[in-house]
Amino acid sequence: MASITLKNIKKNYTKDICVIKGVDLEIKDGEFIVFVGPSGCGKSTMMRMIAGLEDITAGELYIGDTLANDVHASKRGIAMVFQSYALYPHMSVYDNMAFALKLAGTPKAEIDVRVKKAAEVLQMTHLLERKPKALSGGQRQRVAIGRAIVRNPKVFLLDEPLSNLDASLRLNMRVELSKLHQELKTTMLYVTHDQVEAMTLADRIVVFNAGIIQQVGTPLEMYENPSNLFVASFLGSPKMNLFESQLVGVEQGAALVRLPKGITARAAVDTASAKVGDKVTLGIRPEHIQLAEEGVAGAIPAKVDLVEHLGDIVLAYVEIPGVNEIICLKLPAHMTGLKFGDTVRVVFPEKNCMLFDAEGLAFKRNK
Ligand code: ADP
Ligand code: MG
Repeated sequence: MASITLKNIKKNYTKDICVIKGVDLEIKDGEFIVFVGPSGCGKSTMMRMIAGLEDITAGELYIGDTLANDVHASKRGIAMVFQSYALYPHMSVYDNMAFALKLAGTPKAEIDVRVKKAAEVLQMTHLLERKPKALSGGQRQRVAIGRAIVRNPKVFLLDEPLSNLDASLRLNMRVELSKLHQELKTTMLYVTHDQVEAMTLADRIVVFNAGIIQQVGTPLEMYENPSNLFVASFLGSPKMNLFESQLVGVEQGAALVRLPKGITARAAVDTASAKVGDKVTLGIRPEHIQLAEEGVAGAIPAKVDLVEHLGDIVLAYVEIPGVNEIICLKLPAHMTGLKFGDTVRVVFPEKNCMLFDAEGLAFKRNK
């Protein structure tokens, strides 16, 4: 087991194209860290540099206390699992898992113990004699993880390992990976573009975009206190509702903002750096918008555009006349009577409203 420390890590593939633009991060021993960000933002490049499959252009990588920039991949104590699990088709599950150990000259008896232990952890003892073609997608991915486990690595790197699986399998494997981490307690670095995987698996999430860390924190910290617009709209499904607006009033502990058509809302944020007249973005998550009876002060009339019944919840998309943005509400399942064309009244509770400045940086929310 080991910690990982990244100090101002940079990566250029060519002289002018900088893909990783200075990453600082301390990953604790035994932590489950998830890197999440859109396709092409540099997640795999980061992983490959840590694994030793790609040179580090500048900065320092420590695995434990060892400066590892120039340590050969095979000596880093890292095992990597990729999206494409590329098993050897002519070998049994057992041989697939044993292969790297055989190459490394591990004694047969030792290999046997490790493969059987990994198979037990992954609940595939009964599959050891099968060939990959006789396995389901999820089982194949478990073999790929088993191949990593048998090496007793100090760190696991998993690069979108579940992306090839269908939705229900992905969910199963997610639960299994969580359990696996609880059992092995090995440091895990997991890459995904899927914010649900990030929210559910991570001890801490690293939101990454355009080669830069946007924010690091526990899933709930990130969800409740995103530090900028990118993080705010990346985490959460459906996305946070955002409104371009203007700051029209600053009070102790609250900002008054105006949307188009003179609609106002209040956000409970620290207003120390706020200036009346500034352009701001108001943000509120779909589950925080409330519906109100007619006549409630501050309730804004809106028209229902679309209703999606998801069983446990209802998603309603509504339009406030004069406001460009379509607004998404996440409502309890019993609101099934809502339909296209209905008029509703929406309320944006002050404590749930977030505010972002013209650069997209969040105002601190009041506790
Ligand atoms: P992600 O895993 O987040 O989708 P990658 O790390 O694969 O992103 O890629 C980050 C950027 O680096 C992309 O713009 C990609 O085109 C570029 N890139 C990746 N690998 C290479 C390479 N071997 N040579 C040049 N550019 C690369
Ligand atoms: Mg990738």
